[in-house]
This record gives sequence, C-alpha cells and structure tokens, in this order.
Amino acid sequence: MRYINVRLLLLLLLLDRRQFKVRPSWPKADAKHLHLYKNVLQSTLQSVTVPHNALWCNDVFCCDREHIDNLNDYAALLSDACLRAADVSVPSTKPCGEAGHIPVWSEFVAPVRSQSVFWHRLWIECGLW
Ligand SMILES: [Zn+2]
Repeated sequence: MRYINVRLLLLLLLLDRRQFKVRPSWPKADAKHLHLYKNVLQSTLQSVTVPHNALWCNDVFCCDREHIDNLNDYAALLSDACLRAADVSVPSTKPCGEAGHIPVWSEFVAPVRSQSVFWHRLWIECGLW
C-alpha cells in the first residue's frame, strides 16, 4: 500500500515538473485557419530578401563566409516567418486539464490509481481503517 502511494506521489511530482509550452495545434486547425496561415505567411515572406548569390552558388564545397551567413540568415527568417504565422492563425495547445485530458494519465497513473482504490476499499472492508 505504501509502495503504491509512494509510486503515485512520485508520478504526480514528475507531472508537476513538466513545463507547459504553448504551441500551434495543427490537428485543431480547420480550413479557415489554414487559409489565414497561408495569407499571413505569404505577406511576411514578401519582406524577406532572397540571397540569390548564395542560393545560386554552384560550388558544393563553398566556404565563402558571406554565402554561409546569408543562407543561415535566410533559413532563420523562413523558419521564423512560419512560426509567427502559425502563432497568429492556428489554434494553440492548452495546458494539462484545460484540454480535457492529462498526458500519460491513462498509461501510467490510471492503473496505479485503480490498484490504490482497490486496496483502500479492501482495507476498509476488513475493518482495518
Ligand atoms: Zn558559395
């Protein structure tokens, strides 16, 4: 009984340590959200300067610092544009409890909870409580 309680307590402590991070929830996005995402992304990308010289460089072993920096900056701008467009147009994930379920509950906590309830009831029925 104590072993089960300690195990359950440890699992709950581990769940509390998790930091929730808001992210776009693509499964929740409908056609309206995707249309808005596309429009916002297109608008944002119009202001991004394409590094033509770096993109058209034919040297597969290119070590030109400017080309490398331009490509890294370009990749960062594209990534940032995608993330920002998703932030303003796609529904977000919600913290535990608000979404109606707790991650890993059914896998780890529910079986231990069931065992705990069973042994607690047995304990009471035996008059040991
Ligand atoms: Zn190059």
